[in-house]
Amino acid sequence: MAKTYQAAVFPAPNVPIEIREFPEPELEQGAALLRTMYSEVCGTDVHLHHGKLSDVPYPIIPGHVSVGAVAKTRGKIKTVQGDYIKEGDVVTFLDVHETCYNCYYCLVADQPTRCPHRRVYGITYSANDGLLGGWSEAIYMKPGVKMIHISKELAPETFIGGGCGLVTALHAVDMAGVRLGESVAVMGVGPVGQSVVALASLSGAGEIVAVDGVADRLAFARKMGATQTISLDLSKKERLSRAHELTRSRGFDVVIEASGHPAAVSEALDLVRDGGRVIVCGHYTDNGSVEIHPHWQINRKHVELRGCWGSRYEHFHRAVEIGARWGATTPWRAMAHPYEGLSAVSDALDAVERRTAVKAVVHI
Ligand SMILES: [Zn+2]
Ligand SMILES: [Zn+2]
Repeated sequence: MAKTYQAAVFPAPNVPIEIREFPEPELEQGAALLRTMYSEVCGTDVHLHHGKLSDVPYPIIPGHVSVGAVAKTRGKIKTVQGDYIKEGDVVTFLDVHETCYNCYYCLVADQPTRCPHRRVYGITYSANDGLLGGWSEAIYMKPGVKMIHISKELAPETFIGGGCGLVTALHAVDMAGVRLGESVAVMGVGPVGQSVVALASLSGAGEIVAVDGVADRLAFARKMGATQTISLDLSKKERLSRAHELTRSRGFDVVIEASGHPAAVSEALDLVRDGGRVIVCGHYTDNGSVEIHPHWQINRKHVELRGCWGSRYEHFHRAVEIGARWGATTPWRAMAHPYEGLSAVSDALDAVERRTAVKAVVHI
């Protein structure tokens, strides 16, 4: 009898998750099959469940960042390090695939995250095309998917605990160019914001201030390296005056918005110092608009304001390196709430949606 694998599927927006059976795929040359060990549940999956992302080819198998053991390969597959991918190796892979490096955005604008050809495991591949998401007993690695070994120094639970949020945070902190001793405010300390705090700390930032409405998240941000916290229980005016106290009335050198609230973008422009940098990476889906006062908040302040979309292979690669180097002291592993088995993904999704878990990881 042909082997089959189970996977959790979003059949359509706002419909309960279904567990479906998929046949074992035939491997193309250069392809591999992973037996999934861990996959994560993040805010993007909540948006996908509610149909809030455009151009999603439902039904889909969600799960964009995953760790697995190589079950099969066809032909020789090498990592960018030059190491072969062999059966039994524990690996993770860049969820983004098919970036073309042949279009205007890839070649002229140097913005491959805006390449119109890029596809993402667990988001823009349909379940009708096979095991192309992580909430599954097995994941099909199409030829060219960028895999990387999880070294002995890196517990898989640490990498997946940081997960997509760690990769996004690395891109945002890079973009902000955080320098030694600079002050950084992080608006929203969900999974992206927590890793922004940790990476700002590893970058040698001075004051690192987490801003959020959930007390547990603020407490956890301190474990990630926040030196101060500001609660949304304070009024906007009180928050601004607290920020002034912390920065000698200048405002922060860097503000990274990772909350997904439109109002936080306007507040980020208020919290940043003159000539500072604001990075917006929390608006992966359309959460509405906000009024900005261009004279006071941007032009006169001489502010640099940048949007950060997706990530490139280099961010993913370095996130794995950072996990191996700093995972023992930065509590990515403790950030994720563990769930056991595919049947638990509904509960995991629910916990992320209700914000009772910063991040959920499913052991499959
Ligand atoms: Zn994610
Ligand atoms: Zn392209």
